[in-house]
Amino acid sequence: MKNTYFTPGPAELYPTFGTHMQTALNEQIGSISHRSQRFRDIYKHTDQQLRTLLNIPVTHGIFFTGSASEVWERVLLNCVEHESFHLVNGSFSRKFYDYAQSLHKYAHVLEKPFGEGFDAAEIEVPEYAELVCLTHNETSSGVQMRPLEMHKLKRKYPKKLFCVDMVSSAPYPDLDFSLIDSAFFSVQKAFGMPAGLGVWIANEACLDKAERLQKYESMTIGAHNSLPMLWKNYQTFETPATPNVLFIYVLGKITEDLNKIGIETVRKQTEEKARMVYRFVETDERYSAFVKEERHRSQTVLVANTTAPAKDVMATAKEAGLIVGSGYGKQKDTQIRIANFPAVSIEQTAHLIDVLKK
Ligand SMILES: *Cc1c(COP(=O)(O)O)cnc(C)c1O
Repeated sequence: MKNTYFTPGPAELYPTFGTHMQTALNEQIGSISHRSQRFRDIYKHTDQQLRTLLNIPVTHGIFFTGSASEVWERVLLNCVEHESFHLVNGSFSRKFYDYAQSLHKYAHVLEKPFGEGFDAAEIEVPEYAELVCLTHNETSSGVQMRPLEMHKLKRKYPKKLFCVDMVSSAPYPDLDFSLIDSAFFSVQKAFGMPAGLGVWIANEACLDKAERLQKYESMTIGAHNSLPMLWKNYQTFETPATPNVLFIYVLGKITEDLNKIGIETVRKQTEEKARMVYRFVETDERYSAFVKEERHRSQTVLVANTTAPAKDVMATAKEAGLIVGSGYGKQKDTQIRIANFPAVSIEQTAHLIDVLKK
């Protein structure tokens, strides 16, 4: 029997993944040159599909990296001369902050306990912070920051660059890219692909900053995948290094499939499945939603406390072919994490709830 993966990355593969892979193999896409017209057409197609799905305007470029965590480093190197500002409430947002420190940036932090979220009204961005680093979905704790709050914060600080980690939620969050300068994700979460490709969205303001740092401040913005280099290659739909052509192709195809369903429907289905799971954990006395504030509850990584040892709950689910995620770090024994990505249907979610009920 095949398992269904409710794990928050790597996750269940999107149902059409296999078909697109087979087509790619039939068309020998793994062997084509990344300087060929065929590749430029593939990049262009994926770019157009992502623009449609995520509503990305022409002011922003779309670039490919090896992973999302690579983008943490790229955006810090390219968009911060001295100071960055980070909202931290779990392991992933913390790593973004750790990267800033490792790169010797003066990194400011506003920290909240694990399981709590941020609203714009309580946030003061330090005066000299150049880049505001936000995590839409903190995968370790199942906390989201609503796009509305991010937009509000940017309106309060229009001169600062805003970067959003949307790794474990894209395409769910409806970001307004007239306000958000940069965002990024990797494909092994909600896009339902194996790991091995990161996507970095960045606008001209980010490019200007990187060019200024490079030219006038004589700082290093890094040698690999610098924004000016990515941008220059992007003009002809190419990449500085040999990219993961196969996955850029498949990502374009899966994004096209999501566009056929329509982003509104994808978001509604996500919310419906999240509602089903949260309703269940709130009514069954053996479970409870970990995140107390409803507005901070993630729609894409749902975290539940369990009264039974989490490993027993996971084992029961596994017997039914359902793989749920374990609690993160210290919460391993008392929590489960249920990924709610587009690859998993309403019926599969209902099945999981039935099994957890037993
Ligand atoms: C998984 C994850 C990352 C890291 O992504 P990689 O593709 O493993 O580099 C970063 N941020 C968040 C929120 C994540 O969930």
